[in-house]
Amino acid sequence: MTLIPGDGIGPEVIAAATEVVAAAGVHVDWDRQLAGAAAFEAGGDPLPDDLLRSIRRNRVALKGPLATRVGRQGFRSVNVALRKAFDLYANLRPIRNIPGVKSAFTGVDLVVVRENTEDLYAGIEHQIAPGVVESVKIITARASRRIAQFAFDYAEVHGRRKVTAIHKANIMKLSDGLFLTCARRVAKQHPAIEYQELIVDNACMQLVLRPGQFDVLLLENLYGDIVSDLCAGLVGGLGVVPGANLGTRYAIFEAVHGTAPDIAGKGVANPCAAILSAAMLVRHLGEAAAAARIEAAVHEVVGAERHRTPDLGGRSPTAEITRAIARVVERTQ
Ligand code: NAD
Repeated sequence: MTLIPGDGIGPEVIAAATEVVAAAGVHVDWDRQLAGAAAFEAGGDPLPDDLLRSIRRNRVALKGPLATRVGRQGFRSVNVALRKAFDLYANLRPIRNIPGVKSAFTGVDLVVVRENTEDLYAGIEHQIAPGVVESVKIITARASRRIAQFAFDYAEVHGRRKVTAIHKANIMKLSDGLFLTCARRVAKQHPAIEYQELIVDNACMQLVLRPGQFDVLLLENLYGDIVSDLCAGLVGGLGVVPGANLGTRYAIFEAVHGTAPDIAGKGVANPCAAILSAAMLVRHLGEAAAAARIEAAVHEVVGAERHRTPDLGGRSPTAEITRAIARVVERTQ
């Protein structure tokens, strides 16, 4: 498998994830590759050919977060480039409480399905006159249909009862309108799954009021990005939410969080999101029992409160909680 340690806290949490996968007895040959700022510093290219070749060969990767500078400075997002290069059209983010972790809600169990290849992330921007810029939002029927199909298929396979399409088609009548038309068509082919539509601003309010009413959320790229972080906030923060970028041939697993520059290098990053992303990878490889053991170990260790990183109100460093999780995984083999 390709392993991208990433920038900021990436190397710390990815090392934790590989330690726990090894403890689970899943043998993986990691092909370590640089990307983003680390690759740029090493060889002047944030998306090196070696990395692309490695993913093409292995088809599956575990990835740490990559830094993208704000505004005009620096290179364009390597995260977006990777998702496009490997047609990883579906971003899947399960949002679940970890029992015992204090958060505003209990019993949250929802899944964000975010379109991953177009929308404003197409990166088409022009200055059309001094002081006037244009940013183009691309929505296609093909991408909208296939992400809706993904959401309904996922719901069916995983026994989910409802899909909520989240949009702003009252304002973006053509683009979000097309997204909704496609979602409705796919919904009609899945009569057993309840289908609901909500305007994105209302959806955000409903999420922070009563998250329990939601099950699978279907969103375009930008709304999906924003709503994912909001949802992470419902269950204790970015330190505990894993994710996967999935296409028909390739899969890249990564936590929802970014490089967390404010805590990078301090050894206090919460490794749980990366470990749970690695569990998703392990399940993808067909090792469902090992994946379940990793998830149960994270819940046991974090739930018991003895080992918690500062974001969850504890004082444990990354290495300590990682070792505790690895020990539980070994014990339950
Ligand atoms: P961030 O997710 O890096 O951090 C937001 C907040 O959450 C910070 O306070 C951070 O300390 C905290 N946090 C995040 N992960 C944590 C963890 N594992 N343990 C404890 N606390 C954690 O978001 P940001 O600050 O907006 O972005 C920083 C950089 O990351 C930017 O360059 C951005 O482009 C990049 N980014 C990359 C990805 C990715 O690679 N997929 C995703 C999001 C952001």
